[in-house]
Formats: sequence, structure tokens, C-alpha cells
Amino acid sequence: MSTRLQVMKFGGTSVGSAECIARAAQIIANTAKEMRCVAVVSAMSGVTNRLIEAAKTAQAGNAAGATAIMESLRTQHETALESLVRNTEESERVRQKMEAVLAHGQRFCGGTALLRELSPRTLDTISSLGERLSAPLVAAAVKELGLESEAVDATELIVTDSYHGGAEPQMDFTRSKSQARLKPLLERGIVPIVTGFLGCSTSGELTTLGRGGSDYSATILGAALDADEVVIWTDVDGVLSADPRLVPEAKTIPGISYREAAELAYFGAKVLHPKTLRPVVDAAIPVWIRNSFEPQKLGTKITPEGENNSAGVKALTAIRDVTLISVGGPGIVGLTDVVGRTFSTTAEERASVLLISQSSSQNDICFCVSSADAQQTVEALRKEFAQDLAHQKVEHITADPKIAIVAVVGQNMVGTPGIAGKTFAAMGKEGVNIIAIAQGSSETNISFVIEEKSVMTALRSLHREFGLDNR
Ligand code: ASP
Ligand code: MG
Repeated sequence: MSTRLQVMKFGGTSVGSAECIARAAQIIANTAKEMRCVAVVSAMSGVTNRLIEAAKTAQAGNAAGATAIMESLRTQHETALESLVRNTEESERVRQKMEAVLAHGQRFCGGTALLRELSPRTLDTISSLGERLSAPLVAAAVKELGLESEAVDATELIVTDSYHGGAEPQMDFTRSKSQARLKPLLERGIVPIVTGFLGCSTSGELTTLGRGGSDYSATILGAALDADEVVIWTDVDGVLSADPRLVPEAKTIPGISYREAAELAYFGAKVLHPKTLRPVVDAAIPVWIRNSFEPQKLGTKITPEGENNSAGVKALTAIRDVTLISVGGPGIVGLTDVVGRTFSTTAEERASVLLISQSSSQNDICFCVSSADAQQTVEALRKEFAQDLAHQKVEHITADPKIAIVAVVGQNMVGTPGIAGKTFAAMGKEGVNIIAIAQGSSETNISFVIEEKSVMTALRSLHREFGLDNR
């Protein structure tokens, strides 16, 4: 067999039922015939949300409510197990393993209900149980196909900092741990099935990488193991030229660059977790996005350079759950530290800024954050500028949630004049009002803010304008 190594990842919907798990196992088995492989799995779809609900229910003091959720998860996983595994010994072994995971969760929910307190650390422990339930199921399904397989907990592999709910990997430690644990399995022809989403801090506590973080787990392991490629199996055909719910003509893009994909991930195309590509950039490991429901389709290949495409524009994206915050007024002209204070305050709230625009008259700084972070950011800014507001140096701090950011993405926009012109002319023709504009100096993306209600019109007309309809 080839010594090539593939790390593949199955998202929640790709392991969402016994039938889906069987399909994923088949994909693993087919790949394992050709090369060595490691599979990373998400929780069955919806399970992470249910676990978070259980934790919050416990926090409200409702222990019985949390237990009921845990029980429903038990039924769901046991039902899947029954239809997946014929071998009674194996089935019993997996059932006991799942039982231990659920009992662990039950203890944490019980403690939370007693204290009525839910720390980020405890939430990580509870919310990551779904992966610890799905990994043994997938491993058992792979064994059913006659292959050797073993479920491996990522706490044994991925070492992170201790920022619970959004931990960052420490690659050197992760590298040595992953290689020490997984290489011997691979050499013996055993396919490791690794829990996505979670890791372990240097002080030994379980952490999670953030919602949707299993993609990130896969590329972290890909880099740590010097994999030849990473394949993200999901429920869509790949990276599309636009969200097909908004633009029915949207097409799968066969090849795209790291930069473009990162730009799209960042700007809300839900296929990839925004941090996914970071670990593989240095080693230039290609990442595929493929549809586990239609494995005959090739999907999208993400590589350092991507594919050439003369039109310059590759894809469009829009994020709608964002808020435009503006800090300004004529009084801030010449107030040199406003920009610095605005963004250090925002950073302290850990709100990530999606777009910034400032006019040359200096009397208005506006930027977008996710709507979930908006209120606390505005409050923090009002506090920071309380004195200046009182003296009218800063006249207003306002928030507008009824907006959306549209981004036009394409790496070959660099040096292609006229794209901005075409973009805004199209908006003018459609009567879409532009509220703010930003273009990074990298020219991989032109983004602008419009009223939320105009998103569909904007995307459809740009998709047509840039010829993305007929690719
Ligand atoms: N199960 C986790 C979540 O739903 C991680 C993932 O699916 O990537 O956020
Ligand atoms: Mg996901």
C-alpha cells in the first residue's frame, strides 16, 4: 500500500444517522484501500446544540430537564448502534463506552444544576460529549466492513492553550503527541477515528476549538502528521460561487486558493470554519471539500495558488447577522487616539471586527461585528468614551443591526481594473444603497455594507454581472 496519508473529516450531517455513518464508513474503507488514513468526526448533527441546551438547563437548576436531554441522546446513539453493528460483542463494547461518556456528562450536568453555575470549562466538557459518542460508533461501523479501526480521543492528540470555547492549538506539542499515538496504529493498518472539536490544554483540561471546530481539528492533525491531503466531507458539493439559497444559479468552484477560501470562510460561506486553513498553509497541504452524500462528485480543491480564472471574481458571499457600529461626530476630528481606543476596546470584548471604514474627514469610524457581540461592544465603547461624549468630542456611538456585508472574492482581482467599478455600477442599477465600503490592500476581496433587505438582489445581480451564472 502507498505510504501516502490522508486526513479526512466528516461533519455532523455526514454522520447524522446510522445510514449516514454507514456511508461515511464506506468512504473510509474505500480510501483505506489506497492509502493510510485518519478520520476526524463531528458529533451527529444537532447533538452539540442539544448538549449545550442540557448544560444551560442544568445551569437554570433544572437537573431533571438536563437528564431528559441526556436520555434522548442515549436513545439516539443506541438506535444508531443497533442498526450499524451486527457483532454482539463489539456492540456491547461500544454501548458500554457510550454509557461511560453519558454518565460523565450526567455528573457534570448534576454538578452544574447544584451550583447553578456553568463555567466555560464545564461547558466545554459537556458540549464535546457528542464527538466522544460518535467516534466509537464510526469506528465500529468501519470494523463492520472488515477493517481494523480504533476510536481515539483528541485529548490524547491536540494540545491547546486554555482559552475554553475557542482554544488555539500548540503545534509542537500536538505534533509529537499525535505522531506518537497515531503512527503506530497506522503502521499496523488500523484506521484511527478521532473526535473532532476538542483538545486538551497543557494543564490537562479538556478544551474545545469553537463551534464548527472539527474542520480545524482535521487540518491541525493533517499538519501534525505531515499528511498528503485533507478531505472535508460535508453535505454540500464544495465551495460554491454563492449561497444557493439566495442565488439559484450558484456553481461549485473546482479549484480555489487558500486565500480565497479563507476569505470566503471568514465572510460567512458556512462550508469551512474560518481557522481551517491556518495549520496547512506552511506545508501547502491541499484541502478538498466534498459531498459525502454524493461521493462521485469531485468537489472543490483548495491549494496554495488555486486555479487561474480570467474574470478575476471567483465567488460572492454575504453575512447577515452583523451590526454596523459607528463612532463619530465632527468633534472627533483631530482626536488622535479615537481609532486606537475604539479598537482596543472592541478587542477587549473579544468581538472580531469584520470590516472597517473611515472617511478622510475623520469624523466617522464605522465597523462591523457579529450581532451577537454588538451590544456588549457598544456598551464598552460608551464606557470608554463617556468623558468625550459628555464633552461632545465624540457625538455618537450608534449600532445598526439591519445591515449585511457583501463580499466579492477572487485572488486574480489584483491587477484587474474595473471590478470595483462594475460592482458598484451593478448596485446602482439595482437601486441598492451602499452604506460603507472596504477593500483590503491584498485585493482579494471588495466588501461593502448594504441594507439587509437588499442582499438577494445584490448577490443575484453581481453573480450575473461577473459571469458566474454560466461557468
Ligand atoms: N460538533 C461541533 C459543533 O457542532 C463541532 C463541529 O461540528 O465541527 O460545533
Ligand atoms: Mg459543522
